[in-house]
Amino acid sequence: MVDSVYLAELSWPQFAEKVGAGAPVFLPLGTTEQHGPHLPLNVDVVLPTGVCERVAREVGGLVAPTIPYGYKSMPRSGGGEAFPGTLSLDANTFSLVVRDVIRGLGHHGVRRLVVLNGHFENAWPSVEGLDLGLRELRRDGITDMQVMRLEYWDFVERATLDRLFPNGFPGTELEHASLLETSLMLLLKPELVEMDKVPSDGPAKFPTYDRFPVPKDYGLPPSGVLADARGSSAEKGGWLMANHVELIAKAVRKEFGL
Ligand code: ZN
Ligand code: MN
Repeated sequence: MVDSVYLAELSWPQFAEKVGAGAPVFLPLGTTEQHGPHLPLNVDVVLPTGVCERVAREVGGLVAPTIPYGYKSMPRSGGGEAFPGTLSLDANTFSLVVRDVIRGLGHHGVRRLVVLNGHFENAWPSVEGLDLGLRELRRDGITDMQVMRLEYWDFVERATLDRLFPNGFPGTELEHASLLETSLMLLLKPELVEMDKVPSDGPAKFPTYDRFPVPKDYGLPPSGVLADARGSSAEKGGWLMANHVELIAKAVRKEFGL
C-alpha cells in the first residue's frame, strides 16, 4: 500500500480514509519568481512544500499539491515583475484558485486545513481566497471547516535569528533570495544552488513607499538579491527548519486539538 504524506500520491479510497479519520491537510502557496543568479525560480515552491511535508509527518497530516503561481512580485519584497522568469497571477485570479481548491477540499470531507504561505505577496490575496472558499462552503451547508493561515517564516525563535544574524536581522521582506532562503535551499535542494554565483550588490536601499512605474534609481540591487546570501549554509537552514517544523506543529496541535 502506498503510504505518502503527499495527498496526490494516494488513491481516492486512501484519501477518503485519511481525511475521514480527521487528518489535517496542508495547502502550500508558492510562486515562480526570480531569486537572484544563484537560486532557481522555484524557491517559493520548494520551501513551503518542504515545511509542509515535515510538519504533516509530525502531526499525521497530508500535503495538497502546491500552488506554483502566486500574486505579483513587488520590487520591495521580491524584486518585481521585470525579472525574466517571474510568472505571476492577478490577485483576483490567485484568490479564485485558492477559493476553488478550498471548496474542493471541503466538499471531499477536509475539516482541518492549514494554508501555509511561502511567497510574501500572496498574504492578502490568500486571505481573500480563504474567505470566498469558506463562504461558498457555508452556502453548501458545510460550516465546520477549521482553517489556519500562516507564513512559515514567522515561526522562528529570536535566539535563532540572533545566531544567524550577529549584526542584526534585516527583516523578512529584505530576506528575499538572501541568507534564510538560500540556507533552506542548501538544506532541501543543494543541487539547485550555485554558491559561486552569490552576488554582493546588496542590500537594497528602498524608500518606504512604492512607485509606479518602477524607477531606475529605486535602490534595487540588479542581481535581485535584496539583502545578502553570503554565509548561507545547509547547517543554518537546518536551524531554521527545526524551528519552523517544531513551532508550526505545536500551533497546529493546539488549534486542532491533536
Ligand atoms: Zn522567496
Ligand atoms: Mn517570493
